[in-house]
Amino acid sequence: MRPPPGRSAPAADRPPAETPRVASRLVAVLRVGVVGGGQLARMMIPPAIELGIVIRVLAEDEGMAAQIAATQVGDYRDLDTVLAFAETVDVVTFDHEHVPQTVLRELVARGVAVHPGPDALQYAQDKIRMREGLTALGVPVPDWAAVTDAAGLQAFLDDHGGAAVVKTARGGYDGKGVRVVRSASDVEDWFAALDEDGRGGALLVEELVSFRRELAQLVARRPSGETTLWPVVETVQQDGVCAEVFAPAPGAAERLAEMAARIGLQIAEGLGVTGVLAVELFETDDDRILVNELAMRPHNSGHWSIDGSTTSQFEQHLRAVLDLPLGATGVREPWAVMINVLGGPETATLDERLPLALADQPEAKVHLYGKSPRPGRKIGHVTVTGDDLDDVTYRARAAAAFFRD
Ligand code: ADP
Repeated sequence: MRPPPGRSAPAADRPPAETPRVASRLVAVLRVGVVGGGQLARMMIPPAIELGIVIRVLAEDEGMAAQIAATQVGDYRDLDTVLAFAETVDVVTFDHEHVPQTVLRELVARGVAVHPGPDALQYAQDKIRMREGLTALGVPVPDWAAVTDAAGLQAFLDDHGGAAVVKTARGGYDGKGVRVVRSASDVEDWFAALDEDGRGGALLVEELVSFRRELAQLVARRPSGETTLWPVVETVQQDGVCAEVFAPAPGAAERLAEMAARIGLQIAEGLGVTGVLAVELFETDDDRILVNELAMRPHNSGHWSIDGSTTSQFEQHLRAVLDLPLGATGVREPWAVMINVLGGPETATLDERLPLALADQPEAKVHLYGKSPRPGRKIGHVTVTGDDLDDVTYRARAAAAFFRD
């Protein structure tokens, strides 16, 4: 008897030679290798499970991602380690931007699919290179210069009203490596460090931007060119660390949202970014938009999308790096507010805090990263969605406060 349409014939009726080929094709799964085992890798795992994608992680230690995904421990700066890891997956992507260009380029030379690729990633790895790339694209950025000594910095200060922001080109995060300066001697130690490492190098100096608020535009782009955008969001930083995100950016005029979207697409396409790109922006007091920073991976400003958008940034990143069709990026409710959860004083453990937060704010979606809660360390985030911005903000802050105080 023939099987009904869509059903395979019983094993005994099938030609034996065909069976293994068909069966293995049916069970084949897409495998994404993530270099870096932090919370971003960890948050790629739920959508991977939903889409039947296997995630493997190359981590420096048995950290957060290792709690829930197959993890190889190894050094991402070591070519042989990364090559061996790449052989076990279909595409290599990242939870951080620190893999050296030499390693990335060798992977590509050996035919490994790497997304984002080294040509794009160089602009996220070095802030001076980023400014050069953005300037060449004609994207609006703060006035900037690369300075190698105190005299160069003083000349920039003299041209910019005596105040500026100095940044180390590499290795900065969460505001570390960023200083407001009023005198060249304020970064004497950084100039000395440039001399010490013997590689020359330079510091980035920028005009001190007078901004109304900070925004972020997230874009996703596939290698074959399809792009999607989420609505522009407002980000609030405290002590250089992202504290709160409001999606979409409250009161954003259509013109502003369009400018942010256009800049995001221009960068994704102009720099050839694949995967998720986060563009951090300043909305200036005189209604301009300037690009501050780029990240070529899922980003804190997009965590709201897990609960607030049809397709989260983590799912979209997986789709994009695998060159799968991208998902819809509309909002599920008018507002989403995301509050970062930072480790609080050791007056109570996370186990003690969690039930209190859950009981008090049943609307809140609590995401904890499996990190030990040192004071000030990002250990999770909370998102609340709804149609009343004040109510949503209140609930999200209330839930997050249970982990902080
Ligand atoms: P990091 O890479 O450590 O996140 P950023 O370059 O994003 O560093 O800077 C951190 C924060 O410092 C920004 O979010 C912003 O609040 C402030 N900042 C950075 N650049 C400027 C600037 N040119 N003018 C004014 N504030 C700035």
